[in-house]
Amino acid sequence: MAYKNLLSPLRVAGAELPNRMVMGAMHTRIETLDRPHERLAAFYSRRAEGEVGLILTGGYSPTPEGVMDEGGLFLNSKQQLEDHRQITSEIGKAGGKIVLQILHAGRYAKVAECVAPSAKKARINVFPPRALSTLEVWRLIESFAHTAELAQSAGYAGVEIMGSEGYLINEFTAAITNERDDEFGGSFDARIRFPLEIVAAVRKRVGKDFLVIYRISAIDLMEGGMTRAEIAEFARRVEAAGADVINTGIGWHESSVPTIAAAVPRGAWVAAVRNVKQAVSIPVIASNRINTPDVAEEIIASGAADLVSMARPLLADPDFAKKVRLGATDEINTCIACNQACLDRIFTDRTATCLVNPRAGHEIEFPSRTAEKAKNIAVIGGGAAGMAFAINASERGHKVVLFEAEAVLGGQLNLAKQAPGKNEFNELLRYFDVMLAKHGVEIRLNTRVTADVLKAENFDEIVVATGIVPRKPQIPGVDHPKVLRYDDVLSGRQSVGGSVAILGAGGIGFDVADFLVCAHEESLNSESFYRAWGVSLDEASAGGLKQPINHSTSRVVHMFQRKAESMGRGLGKSTGWILKAKLKKANVSMTVGVTYEGIDDEGLHYVIDGTSHVLAVDNIVLCTGQVSERGLAEQLQDAEIKFHIIGGAYVAEELDALRAIDQATRLAVNI
Ligand code: NAP
Ligand code: SF4
Repeated sequence: MAYKNLLSPLRVAGAELPNRMVMGAMHTRIETLDRPHERLAAFYSRRAEGEVGLILTGGYSPTPEGVMDEGGLFLNSKQQLEDHRQITSEIGKAGGKIVLQILHAGRYAKVAECVAPSAKKARINVFPPRALSTLEVWRLIESFAHTAELAQSAGYAGVEIMGSEGYLINEFTAAITNERDDEFGGSFDARIRFPLEIVAAVRKRVGKDFLVIYRISAIDLMEGGMTRAEIAEFARRVEAAGADVINTGIGWHESSVPTIAAAVPRGAWVAAVRNVKQAVSIPVIASNRINTPDVAEEIIASGAADLVSMARPLLADPDFAKKVRLGATDEINTCIACNQACLDRIFTDRTATCLVNPRAGHEIEFPSRTAEKAKNIAVIGGGAAGMAFAINASERGHKVVLFEAEAVLGGQLNLAKQAPGKNEFNELLRYFDVMLAKHGVEIRLNTRVTADVLKAENFDEIVVATGIVPRKPQIPGVDHPKVLRYDDVLSGRQSVGGSVAILGAGGIGFDVADFLVCAHEESLNSESFYRAWGVSLDEASAGGLKQPINHSTSRVVHMFQRKAESMGRGLGKSTGWILKAKLKKANVSMTVGVTYEGIDDEGLHYVIDGTSHVLAVDNIVLCTGQVSERGLAEQLQDAEIKFHIIGGAYVAEELDALRAIDQATRLAVNI
């Protein structure tokens, strides 16, 4: 049997798990929308229907000051149980099992009342924490146990005690954040006492047939964090304290090493997980950058873990586990680790959804409905918007013809996948290909259609998804042979010299700079990644860190932007810092507040603060945004033929695949 490890059942603490796939806990902020419990129930039960073996909720704090942010989730009273029963009963009906995660955010809590072992502010929080008194620590241990008991009454199958990612418990275990001199600080034994007391108190309160999972920080990635030897010893003590399963977390939110972005190779953290697994006899869950069944199967088969946790991959495809069971893995809508619609939205106080699956978190807005009348629909443009529309409309019974002017489908996605760390876009293209074929979409490549052609075929609906064209700025000399367009560079159609000026510093300007100076293998190969980011697997290295080794490049790259603000402000919150750090290491210069004067044999002429400069470079790459390709739309308007317009053709400004796929899907379910 393919995926025999992934599909094998597991009995633990009285619970029979049908497979080894776990939906990891994820903060979604769904609770901030209207009808929050109905939405949460729909969100989780959709994943249960998709046959994932176990679901972990987003974190609920045991006390109000431990919430992630204002209005965040906590569970500390019986009055809240009805809402939770709505969730657990829906999951039960869908045949799933759900565990409540207890997470006290400690000094990461974005609330003025936040608390921590010591009064040391996190660099990622504006609020300084107050140090807990010894009595408060003991009370907090009881609060964890009380929340676990409430979770049991609400019908959850267990609890997960969140001890990683730099939240409160992790702040106790690491010396850098724990400067206490009472029984909870100082020595290693004292620092790990808080979590061990919590595990023991929870176990005592819930009895033996209730799953108690402890999420350990398998590698802190913080200076002064635990060593591998200490983590292994701590894992043994967690088992002895009464945990049934150990889940693994990687790094802290304030670590300067990426942990889950696409810049991290798949399965990069297996060595840290294996260290925990070798220390204990209870099942261990692997997590972080596990997004395909093959990677998941390999991790279990290699003996590094017993189960795999996938949070974002289950946002991307709720049917992940079911598709593995059915042998339909090529139909999995793979998480591309972009973070754009999930973490970046959470970090900017919005609700999570998924770039490749806009239904995620919005299940109640997308009932699955067969179309009342099957229509003949023409879609013009085979980029992200056109393909997403074609799949969703044909799934509802419409007959769709997809026209594409180029020889291949994909549009801008074919460029996106070329940037270092964006290899995962290949999975999205594979998914689109497979689903277009599955739903019988007729594809006409190399076909540039006109309004007359569309009129002649008498379609019921026309959807224009003709995308964008790169903007050509009005700079004197812009047609000089030194000047290249970003699409020519990323596609490899044009070669690039040893010194380069990049005009425009949006997402694509950064991607092009990364493409020109950084090593692609850093996001594909764990050893290269460890070297580049200074990750150490030595037994004694504190926090799992060592000195990084920079990739050497002889190419000199200069980035320019007209706005006077710092570069990269529009990049994703969870990924922009990674790109900026990589480019800094590669000595890419960043100049803002410029006016372009012209381009000639000498190079780029520009003015800054009233002073003219000339930069001698081999090439100047235009990354100056896009404009909508509306030629066909204008023809249709002139011919008074009705049409819908989506994606970049609708608005090019800040076009991204997230908006394109969302708009396409919403149109398709309503047409
Ligand atoms: P963009 O974000 O709109 O950036 C275009 C850049 O060109 C800006 O820096 C702008 O800054 C400059 N510009 C605009 N008009 C200009 C003109 N007439 N002359 C000279 N410079 C001009 O567009 P993009 O970089 O092409 O990215 C498109 C979309 O793809 C983005 O919105 C993003 O969502 C998505 N994307 C995101 C990422 C990521 O987050 N990592 C990566 C790739 C793509 P100044 O006017 O200040 O010079
Ligand atoms: Fe994965 Fe991107 Fe979807 Fe987040 S938005 S779940 S990272 S594909």
